[in-house]
Amino acid sequence: MVDQLRVVVVGAGLAGLRVVESLREKGSEASIVLVGEEAHEPYDRPPLSKHVLRGDREPMFLREEYESLGADLRLGVTATGLGDHVLRTGDGDIEFDHLVIATGAAPRRLPGAPGLVLRTLDDARALSPYLSPGKTLGIVGAGLIGCEVAASARTKAAEVHLVDVLDGPLIRVLGPVLSARIADLHREHGVHLHLGTGVASASSDRLALADGTVLDVDVVLEAMGVAPSVGWLEGSGLTLDNGVRCDAGGRAGDGVWAVGDVANWAGVRHEHWTSAGEQAATVAAAITGVPVTHEAIPYWWSDQYDVKLQGLGSPAADDDVVIVDVGPRQRPLAVYSRDGRLTGVVGFSAGAAVMKLRQEIADGAPVADVLAALAG
Ligand SMILES: Cc1cc2nc3c(=O)[nH]c(=O)nc-3n(C[C@H](O)[C@H](O)[C@H](O)COP(=O)(O)OP(=O)(O)OC[C@H]3O[C@@H](n4cnc5c(N)ncnc54)[C@H](O)[C@@H]3O)c2cc1C
Repeated sequence: MVDQLRVVVVGAGLAGLRVVESLREKGSEASIVLVGEEAHEPYDRPPLSKHVLRGDREPMFLREEYESLGADLRLGVTATGLGDHVLRTGDGDIEFDHLVIATGAAPRRLPGAPGLVLRTLDDARALSPYLSPGKTLGIVGAGLIGCEVAASARTKAAEVHLVDVLDGPLIRVLGPVLSARIADLHREHGVHLHLGTGVASASSDRLALADGTVLDVDVVLEAMGVAPSVGWLEGSGLTLDNGVRCDAGGRAGDGVWAVGDVANWAGVRHEHWTSAGEQAATVAAAITGVPVTHEAIPYWWSDQYDVKLQGLGSPAADDDVVIVDVGPRQRPLAVYSRDGRLTGVVGFSAGAAVMKLRQEIADGAPVADVLAALAG
């Protein structure tokens, strides 16, 4: 008799859970253990900076029940290391044939970690009371999380100071043209922007900026991006290089795979909801012995005020960019290109136009043709 295959998934977030679900959907009868250090059952993170923070929706758990998955869900258990086909945890060793690493990423901190962060449900619950009239938030970092929290806080009539050492919100990802539009959006909603200046010192209720400005606030949010959660893998023999280094199909070593925010697939690490699910399906397919080719085009979204930003493709901040107004409501669509070829698009509540360009992005279509079609 052949022994039952043992699959251990570490990290009970979106990517980890999707691996387990995908294995079962593909008919795998493996014995599966899902290990996660948070006490909560897997939940969705995007609503945390939006509805959950504003208090207008309950947290969204990713599944209602676990029995039908037939997996051993071990919550509140932290993985501490990796041996030869054995995962070390705070609750003992677990042997595996396949290990899928899905430990996500953790916020970067200011020296001394004086503020709050927003990554988990507990973080959202700690921050939420500050989103109310009369409160002032000092947000360090105008990336996706910083911008979304700023928007949620203004919606709840809190004062917001948004600080970034760079010259514009999201500028490293979207480039200066779109960044300027997003800065305007926040200014129009009353956010105090402090751009091009770092933090000289910070305490829990005060930010001293490098340009001499001192901000007295009720809470500091540290939103300077995340680092992949790989500390527990030091010395494991895996290559740790901006996450767990994998091939183009998520394989990191002998029977070891990585998916989601922690995973660097062939030099690219995504921090987006959609790619976590796509990578999970690809790795589950490989484990079941029916590999599929991973050809996903990166997609992300962000809700700020009444605007849904949606990005498709892999534009670089220094790509050429043209903004055109599309659809019956003439919504802005940023079209990115390099050497005359389409690299990606970002829409402002222009989802239909964004999605229609999937094939052109995959093909690297001539941008002149794309712009002509949009104009016609
Ligand atoms: C507030 C917020 C808003 C977001 N909004 C958007 C959005 O609008 N659009 C978008 O595309 N993306 C968004 N994202 C990103 C998206 O949620 C992530 O890309 C996605 O959650 C990644 O899933 P993951 O499973 O790789 O990591 P995670 O969801 O972080 O899950 C990893 C899990 O592993 C656990 N873990 C870590 N270390 C260990 C260990 N040693 N042992 C055991 N368990 C461990 C962690 O506790 C965590 O539960 C947002 C993220 C956040 C935080």
